[in-house]
Amino acid sequence: MKEADRLTKLPIYVFAQLDALKANERAKGVDLIDLGMGNPDVAPPPQVIESLKQALNDPENFRYPSFEGAPDFKEAVAGWCKRQYGINIDPQHEVVALIGSKEGVVHLAMAYINPGDITLVPMPAYPAHFNGTILSGGEPYVLPTTEKNGFLPDLKDVDPSIADAAKMLVISFPTNPTAVCAPRSFFEEAVAFAKKHKLILVSDFAYAELYFGNEKPISALSIPGAKDVCIEFHTLSKTFGMAGWRIGFAVGNPRLVESLRKIKTNLDYGIFTCVQKAAVTALNLKDGYIDNVRAIYKRRRDLFVDGLNRLGWKLNKPTATMYLWVPVPDGFNATSFSLHLLEKTGVVAAPGVAFGSLGEGYVRFALVDKEARLEEALRRMESAGIRYA
Ligand SMILES: *Cc1c(COP(=O)(O)O)cnc(C)c1O
Repeated sequence: MKEADRLTKLPIYVFAQLDALKANERAKGVDLIDLGMGNPDVAPPPQVIESLKQALNDPENFRYPSFEGAPDFKEAVAGWCKRQYGINIDPQHEVVALIGSKEGVVHLAMAYINPGDITLVPMPAYPAHFNGTILSGGEPYVLPTTEKNGFLPDLKDVDPSIADAAKMLVISFPTNPTAVCAPRSFFEEAVAFAKKHKLILVSDFAYAELYFGNEKPISALSIPGAKDVCIEFHTLSKTFGMAGWRIGFAVGNPRLVESLRKIKTNLDYGIFTCVQKAAVTALNLKDGYIDNVRAIYKRRRDLFVDGLNRLGWKLNKPTATMYLWVPVPDGFNATSFSLHLLEKTGVVAAPGVAFGSLGEGYVRFALVDKEARLEEALRRMESAGIRYA
């Protein structure tokens, strides 16, 4: 039984490997502090949970949902996009509901990428940004991002013949794992670049609301003319602590949205109506819930960055996301350091290579546990003599 090439060509899923190691440590009785996966622990708004409970009282909601999202969900999405990012979205033609944005990003690639087609993808990146293309038989072309260029891809450096041959450009700011935002000028450049080279511009906006400064992250769709080429992916997973609920959405160019719908029509039946109703409540909330979420992650960021800096690191505080992208001490690589950390302290960090080979030399801490646990993680690191040098 030989697996199809689309499977054998995928890079190893490092998080699955990490899971096995974690299970091993747990079996030994180790009290793990798991900062490995970006799995949010902040509870959703109580009104959202209440609205799910309400929806469960109506058996009509247990039938197959509409493929593309219920009308009230799509209306709520359009209202949210207008209020939060100043973008105009036609709820009928420019929204599709997703079983999480990961699903959407991968299926969009399957809707557009033929074997041999090229997708331009910055690296390090969220693995789905590559894997959608690989699963479709296409070739990711890496745009390296490093500390030197502020983890922004240099579009000017892309060989024009490659850019012309490519079909898609994936961007995602604020970025997982490197925790940077891009300025408006970058988005303008990306839209112009996509138009010049006839590329589909895919913007994964998963961390749209997890920012700590006064400046809000920018929606690619807010650049004039972006909708000619762009589809943007949003999720309730991080913003509303609803990762396990599996709901997100894509908005933007109606043809791209339509193709995504088309492929999904053949694969799934949409999202449980009760979850969509709860999501409508989330998107229409006006009670400062998200301010509180930002405050929680910001306190964790400050605590953990200050703590690591006491252990010899020289980190700046990232302006967005729930991650810290942290260079490993001398004598380690990404994998050996995260193993060392796990064995000596029971603290789990994702090795940077989980985000592509250019993540070598780094680990990513996801700040997905309470402050007391983060302090405990730092104490254990200190006692184990783990320092940056
Ligand atoms: C967490 C994450 C997602 C996944 O979101 P779901 O909506 O839960 O599938 C998508 N993109 C990035 C960059 C993420 O970090």
